[in-house]
Amino acid sequence: MRGDLYDVTLIGAGPVGLFGAFYAGLRGMRVKIIDSLPELGGQLMALYPEKYIYDMPGFPEVLAKDLAHQMTRQAMRFHPTICLEERAERLERIEEGWRILTHTGNEHDTRTIVICAGVGAFSPRKLNAEGVAEFEGNGVYYGVREKSLFAGKRLLIVGGGDSAVDWALNLYPIAHQVTLIHRRDEFRAHEQSVQELRRSPVKILTPYELRRVSGDGHLESATIFHNKSQEETVLPVDAVILNLGFVASLGPLKHWGLELEGNSIRVNHYMQTNLTGIYAAGDVCTYEGKLKLIATGVGEVCTAVNHAKSVIDPNAKMFPGHSSDMEIPALV
Ligand SMILES: Cc1cc2nc3c(=O)[nH]c(=O)nc-3n(C[C@H](O)[C@H](O)[C@H](O)COP(=O)(O)OP(=O)(O)OC[C@H]3O[C@@H](n4cnc5c(N)ncnc54)[C@H](O)[C@@H]3O)c2cc1C
Repeated sequence: MRGDLYDVTLIGAGPVGLFGAFYAGLRGMRVKIIDSLPELGGQLMALYPEKYIYDMPGFPEVLAKDLAHQMTRQAMRFHPTICLEERAERLERIEEGWRILTHTGNEHDTRTIVICAGVGAFSPRKLNAEGVAEFEGNGVYYGVREKSLFAGKRLLIVGGGDSAVDWALNLYPIAHQVTLIHRRDEFRAHEQSVQELRRSPVKILTPYELRRVSGDGHLESATIFHNKSQEETVLPVDAVILNLGFVASLGPLKHWGLELEGNSIRVNHYMQTNLTGIYAAGDVCTYEGKLKLIATGVGEVCTAVNHAKSVIDPNAKMFPGHSSDMEIPALV
């Protein structure tokens, strides 16, 4: 599907892309944000939602997921267009600027781009066990899009981190039965959630791994094994949810003709890349003295957006003035 023309498109909805979306809205730009993940927040939500962050101005301590929610609220203030589960793959020059083509076949036309792609597009770590690929999307899932899909079902959840434990806790009230297996005896998830899990009706089996899934047309059973004794157990199940973490890759962005240094995109003081109208900010960019922190990334994206604004509108000043002096719409 082809879209209409935006002033700026941010690739990546981590903390840096989210703040960039807010800031571009503040500058009166038409804003789009694209991310390969099904939710906003980048590393904060995908890698460490339950960890505290202590180095954000104004927050002596804040859980990563709470910071992501607040940054999302702030980003939504000027109603940017959000495109999730779309991985930016190709780039084409168009008369007005650039066209971004995503893996879904969608085309996004934009005057300028700010790449806030962090360590690259995240995708779920896949499990190479018998039957898993065959039933993927039809009984085997790498995440939960709609809780109602699992209502009344016999579920097997695999994993030992926050996502696995949180989904077990979230789904047992609506599922018929939930079994959670983890290959180690200790869970990596937040201690409080693990305690809650142990008090819940979720059946916990450790140290167990998934060997195969099978069924005739639809999923019927999962074979798990004790990874010390190798003893197998067959569980009758309707669905398996695999929460094995994420892998990240800059992948296609490496072939866009951007000047790279290792896995990072080289920028100048305006956060401009070697391609006209394309900027980069946050973990994905590099320059002399670069620090990979949220606090520095959000500063970089302000510079990028303000510069992009002055390029597409030569009458606009690079420095916009103070937000406290501007007319700002109410939060939603
Ligand atoms: C365990 C841990 C603890 C940390 N603690 C702190 C801390 O206390 N303080 C601190 O300042 N920093 C901390 N960090 C670092 C911080 O999380 C990063 O600096 C920050 O997330 C960078 O933000 P970003 O928006 O640049 O990138 P990211 O958060 O990585 O977001 C990038 C987004 O871009 C998307 N994306 C990438 N490529 C594409 C593509 N081709 N198409 C579509 N979407 C794409 C990804 O899916 C992702 O959502 C920590 C990191 C880790 C792993």
